[in-house]
Amino acid sequence: MAGIYVHIPFCKQRCAYCDFYSTVQHHLVGSYVEAVVAEARMRQIEGEIKTLYLGGGTPSQLPVQHLCSLVDGLRQALDLSHVDEFTVEVNPDDVSHEFAASLAGMGVNRVSMGVQSFIDEELAVINRRHDARGALDAIQALRGAGITNISIDLIYGLPRQTMMSWQKTLGTALAVRPQHISAYNLSYERGTRLWLMRERGEVVEADDKTCVEMYDLLTSMLGEAGYEHYEISNFGLPGFHSRHNSSYWDFTPYMGLGASAHSFDGKNRSYNPPSLTDYINCVSSGKLPGVVEEAEWWEQYDEMVMVALRTSRGLLLEDVACRFGDKALKHLLSNAKQYFDNGQLVCSNGRISIPEASFMMSDGIIRDLMW
Ligand code: SF4
Repeated sequence: MAGIYVHIPFCKQRCAYCDFYSTVQHHLVGSYVEAVVAEARMRQIEGEIKTLYLGGGTPSQLPVQHLCSLVDGLRQALDLSHVDEFTVEVNPDDVSHEFAASLAGMGVNRVSMGVQSFIDEELAVINRRHDARGALDAIQALRGAGITNISIDLIYGLPRQTMMSWQKTLGTALAVRPQHISAYNLSYERGTRLWLMRERGEVVEADDKTCVEMYDLLTSMLGEAGYEHYEISNFGLPGFHSRHNSSYWDFTPYMGLGASAHSFDGKNRSYNPPSLTDYINCVSSGKLPGVVEEAEWWEQYDEMVMVALRTSRGLLLEDVACRFGDKALKHLLSNAKQYFDNGQLVCSNGRISIPEASFMMSDGIIRDLMW
């Protein structure tokens, strides 16, 4: 067991681009925390738990007393004595000096903050509730409380974002030098407010060429500043790669607790219901909430190829042969040949990987290597 993920599905307001499961209805917070702890007690865990990750939604929207009961309850239900990375996702707007001190007091040693942009106009159009100053103050408050391992999320391809404003966001990020930066290309998901805004002509989607240029600027500025580009969207200072997320990419088993969380046992995935009330009702009646989806061998193969080739470490050929046999390895290598020939795949020490310069083309390459 690598890590435990706990989903906290509460947000203060919905961001325009977001299609994650979350709710702005907070009246069930207390029952939800009890249900998560009850689920943790019911789960069978094999092996040492190395990482704990509270994600969302917005975990920093939980009132401190509920956050404390959740963490205390998890400590009683699970053996967390081997956890060396305890991450909590926060919204900058929630991080006061007191809140930062409370997190440190609970043993949190890493914070992941949804900054998205350091340009106020860009934040307003996607309905984020913080501004650039708020993000900088939150980072300072966390550091003041002794939480020095900070990751920030950024988005490129935002409405009204220009190359110059993106460069300014990256420059501001590098000036505060967080240990880790995740940067994602904005996607317009059907059913989100942003999707509707585009349909109505209120925002214009950034074109592919601009997004590629923004990605190139991202990789060059962060590379020059000493960040290691270890996954398509993730950069860390040496020693500060996300251990929790790295275990997802290594195909290590993990357990997800809470509404809409999913778990992986090394072979199959199970999914908790994406509904607060269904989840609470299920757990409070003493039943485990997950529905197991048994994956065919080729689905597991596809997933391994997809996840591993998004990382700079790449895919270990021996793993493919051991888990899926020579037939899968042969398929992989024969489809990979064209990419070895044009340099978009390289092989070293028994691993194949996509060089950084071709990361933006990775979707097509990975698709060709799937079963
Ligand atoms: S705070 Fe996070 S989870 Fe909540 S709506 Fe915004 S992006 Fe989605």
